Amino acid sequence: MKQATLEQFQRYVIPNYTRYPVCLVRGVGSSVWDDEGNRYLDFFPGWGCDLLGHCPPRVVQAVQAQVAQLIHVPNTWYMEAQGRLAEALSERTGWGGQCFFCNSGTEANEAAIKIARLHGKPGRYKIVSMLDSFHGRTLGALSATGQPKYHKGLEPLLAGFNYAPYGDLDAAAKLIDGETCAIMVEPIQGEGGINLPPPGYLQGLRELCDRHNLLLIFDEVQAGMGRTGRWFAAQHWDVQPDVTTLAKALAGGVAAGALIARPEAAEKLRPGTHAATFGGNPLACVAALATIETIEAEKLLQRAEELGAYFQQRFDAIRSRCSLLREVRVKGVMIGLELAVDGAPVVEACLKRRLLINCTHSTVLRLLPALTLSDAERDEGCDILEDVLANITV
Ligand SMILES: *Cc1c(COP(=O)(O)O)cnc(C)c1O
Repeated sequence: MKQATLEQFQRYVIPNYTRYPVCLVRGVGSSVWDDEGNRYLDFFPGWGCDLLGHCPPRVVQAVQAQVAQLIHVPNTWYMEAQGRLAEALSERTGWGGQCFFCNSGTEANEAAIKIARLHGKPGRYKIVSMLDSFHGRTLGALSATGQPKYHKGLEPLLAGFNYAPYGDLDAAAKLIDGETCAIMVEPIQGEGGINLPPPGYLQGLRELCDRHNLLLIFDEVQAGMGRTGRWFAAQHWDVQPDVTTLAKALAGGVAAGALIARPEAAEKLRPGTHAATFGGNPLACVAALATIETIEAEKLLQRAEELGAYFQQRFDAIRSRCSLLREVRVKGVMIGLELAVDGAPVVEACLKRRLLINCTHSTVLRLLPALTLSDAERDEGCDILEDVLANITV
């Protein structure tokens, strides 16, 4: 990449991210190009935000048309696209949710925490969340996040969060007391290593919430919007929450977040309780509507299932030959490959071969490929990864 760009970053951009020395300039589908003309195959497009790949045509067209008409107006006015998006999301929940719009996952979870506290009034404010969870970086969502490494130096956290090991129903039950108002969980943990819920777990959490009058909050920021083959990951287990949050893939790569709540919970948010200046702006809403339209027109929920089945059998086969690969966890295009060793050198080796992947939780290779991935691209990426795993020295 250009030395000038590097120097600009060194001087003017706060280095709170670990960056690879690659400057990306253009993307189409699952391909992305750097400023030297190199093409990369992207198995982690937009950190999970580009669920339809880079620059999906319907999203591009919708944004291009909208940007010339109305970019932003505040929520003191009505706007058609926001109403249409709320209806589209509500219909897909299957439980008649109502929407609040914001701009990111952490913001959607902040709104969920507020609803939980308002629901718990008077006297209840505690929320049970899970170890190895990830809910965002603002202080409320960070307090919900059950990973001490992210809390370091930032204490004191928001009061009232207690963490249970993910998948352990008894541990969650034991944390509930007379001051608890909600349970918050990712139906499939993303950042924590692509962890799938054990049988009966989500249903068990639902029952605990019903028994103790708690709100069940599903953070679907990473797993939602069709990535797993259903609009919401929890639909695989037939469990309905009271509140669910979305962001990452919601608007095809455009910044957007949403909270969807049952009317009984939603009624807690009234003027004065919560707001987001940019939330539900016309640009983000038309991008989200175009995302939903693309997923339906191109039958991409079905494609997620197909791709998931392929990845499962392909990586299971690799695992049988490669002792470094301990476990394969797949739901649609949400893929975790648990290694016996640190994953960072594998990510680096893939980058050299121009395949973009991610490593999370130290030892889990995370792939969040696009639903529009072709069979040829799928095979190209798997071949590179298989080769890299076979040749990695530890
Ligand atoms: C990424 C993520 C968040 C945070 O989203 P931001 O848009 O970065 O604030 C919250 N929850 C989950 C499950 C996520 O994967």
